[in-house]
Amino acid sequence: MNNPAANCSFTQMTLDRVSNKRKDDEWLLAQLAQENCQIIPVCHNSFFFVENDLFILQGESKYKILTSELTSKVKTHQLVFLGINDSTPIFAIDISSIEEAELPNVFSNNLELVNLRATLALTSHEQASILGFANNLLHWNKSNRFCGFCGTATQANNGGHSISCTNSECKKEIFPRTDPVVIMLVEYKPENGPVQCLLAEHDRSPEMCASTLAGFVDPAETLEQGVIREVKEEVGLNVYDVEYVKSQPWPFPSSLMLGFYAKTNDPTIKIDDDEIRDAKWFTADEVRAFSNWGDEDEHYKIPRKGSIARYLIDTWLEAN
Ligand SMILES: [Zn+2]
Repeated sequence: MNNPAANCSFTQMTLDRVSNKRKDDEWLLAQLAQENCQIIPVCHNSFFFVENDLFILQGESKYKILTSELTSKVKTHQLVFLGINDSTPIFAIDISSIEEAELPNVFSNNLELVNLRATLALTSHEQASILGFANNLLHWNKSNRFCGFCGTATQANNGGHSISCTNSECKKEIFPRTDPVVIMLVEYKPENGPVQCLLAEHDRSPEMCASTLAGFVDPAETLEQGVIREVKEEVGLNVYDVEYVKSQPWPFPSSLMLGFYAKTNDPTIKIDDDEIRDAKWFTADEVRAFSNWGDEDEHYKIPRKGSIARYLIDTWLEAN
């Protein structure tokens, strides 16, 4: 059941982001015009699949979408440059504004729309990383079409990697945001008996799904302070030896999960948080007896493969 070597989803990015070159609109247009250029259409955070393959616009088919003048397209928030895969330029385009009934006229193929989370079952780790990136960047562009300072319309620059206010008095420039989330496995070693880890049933998860604690980092807070505060708030424990383990982009739409281990001396759990239904201490052997995510039985379930929660638990099991 446990395979700590398995990659976390969204962590295997193969694209060269060529961040120096994407500042140049002429260079971007030359990439778009390349025969092998690929454009990934995105519609309301979902992607198109033909049977089980991702649908990509390339060759002549990309011009079905790029009907308006290309120069203006790269300044809108709809088209973003993701990077170069080997020698293939890859873009993503938000086509949410096209009416669903119109889609079959735009694409002749028999397409199925699959939301980002569900694409994980259909894609490699490498492809999922690119789709996550596309979702994250397009969502950010869509959310920033107007300046937060003066309310004027904005324009996208750098292939959608920065946005500037078009008001000449303001010219405010903003960059994509990432929302840090700390996620932590807390352990307790009783004087007599095996070490235990704390796993919780989260309110938004199905019954009997036990996972690590997690929460957004507050403004002006270190990651370590975030871990200490979240554990205290969610289950009333004081933790120490907060140790960083691994990170995972979580593009729903723009989080970065930062995984930690932490220890406590006092195992008394006090749940004072709406988001936690239950929390318990488990030995490694008890966790090894958990059912898999998605199993339909009465046992506790381990988190989904590919999640950083699963990685933290699997790595902890290896050591214990
Ligand atoms: Zn402005």
